[in-house]
Amino acid sequence: MRLHNASDKPEVLDLLITGVTVVHTKPELQVIENAVIGIRGSRIIFVTTAQNAYVNNAKRTIDLHGHMVLPGFINVHTHTILTMVRGVAEDMGFAPAYTPGVPHGHEVTPEEAVALARLGALEAMLFGSTTINDSYVHAELTLPAMADIGLRTYACGRIHDVDFSRVHLGEWRHDDKIGERTLAEALALHSKWHGSRDGRIGVHLTPHATDTCSKHLLRQVSDHCELHNSIVTTHLSQSVMENQRVQARDGCSPCELLEQVGLLGPRLIAAHGMYMSDSDIHRAGRAKMNLAHVPKGNATGGRIAPSRAMQNAGIRLTLATDNMHADMIEVMRWALNLGRIQVGCIDDSWQPADMLRMATFNGAHAMGLGDQIGTLEAGKLADLVCVDMNRPHLVPCINPLGNLVHTGQGSDVAMVIVHGEIVVEKGRATRVDQDTILINAQRAANALWQRARTQI
Ligand SMILES: [Zn+2]
Repeated sequence: MRLHNASDKPEVLDLLITGVTVVHTKPELQVIENAVIGIRGSRIIFVTTAQNAYVNNAKRTIDLHGHMVLPGFINVHTHTILTMVRGVAEDMGFAPAYTPGVPHGHEVTPEEAVALARLGALEAMLFGSTTINDSYVHAELTLPAMADIGLRTYACGRIHDVDFSRVHLGEWRHDDKIGERTLAEALALHSKWHGSRDGRIGVHLTPHATDTCSKHLLRQVSDHCELHNSIVTTHLSQSVMENQRVQARDGCSPCELLEQVGLLGPRLIAAHGMYMSDSDIHRAGRAKMNLAHVPKGNATGGRIAPSRAMQNAGIRLTLATDNMHADMIEVMRWALNLGRIQVGCIDDSWQPADMLRMATFNGAHAMGLGDQIGTLEAGKLADLVCVDMNRPHLVPCINPLGNLVHTGQGSDVAMVIVHGEIVVEKGRATRVDQDTILINAQRAANALWQRARTQI
């Protein structure tokens, strides 16, 4: 860390945060008590102890004694619109797209998509995510609508060539025209939005899954990713059915398929992986694939991804909520506990600091943003989260990170800063009217559920 001391030329800061405990991993755990954080524009100027910093040289100074400051959480895999099925779909099937009796993406109108995406993005931001990587329908509208709330927003529509209006009925009909259309839409989204709004918006190509994309389409996606040096996100081995379908269609496993088309590598963020074989886990590890680990969502479906074996094989673990909730603090806790269940003990390599690394540092690197976000250091973008530790479930506080991971909640987040801008203050969004977002999302979900029920 570069200390900002008396020999440096004093320059006016936009924001000075004082009195906090800074906790981050880079990649080893770093803790700074009674820290001050200086921010100018979008960047962190210094993170240091109080005696090393200019405390009277900022346009705004906020004393946050009793708060812990972390890098913003990076939720590498989510579908904000799927807030529409929360509280119901968790108890029905492993993923809403494959589950009959719930609203589906092809049924969502543009207005409903925007209303629900803004709800999901708001929830994520209030709970401490500063970056999300989203994929679902109507991305050309939901991407800017989510970014307007204040998040660093990456999004893409679902690329697929299966007819999604039939999948929940158990029919996989591949249609080249659907593939051409969804890929063209994703590429148009990329050329229009990637890197816009000072880099606060990005587009990663997102083929939906190995069973909903043909080998031909996946190869096309791979070619475009190579051309644009782009990150790609997909679902991987999230069900026995997916494994069986790919085996029957292409004569290989989903992981082998991704390798054959050139997608398996360090630019791939693959979600779930619960049904990867041991040989596929080693294949993905050798390729240095990133796993979007979804421990809470997977456990809700009755399955645990072999996260310990994956890490040991060389797969980089990152964390994600997937859908129906957006609390990355809860996800860290689920990842910690489910990892321990796999080995039946507590060990030094699976501790709260390791979960924080997955939720921040690893996520940033998987997203290709490791030199910009994921740690709290001079020169990096000011994406950070302040957690109010003066809550009954967080007192007494001997080890702040231990408290956060074991008993913390997303609602403990008091302030969120993205790109140097305060987007959540005193637990409320600063850019948008939260009540309106909630009302519009409830209205959209009511309409979708009403239509879904009349179709049964
Ligand atoms: Zn997903």
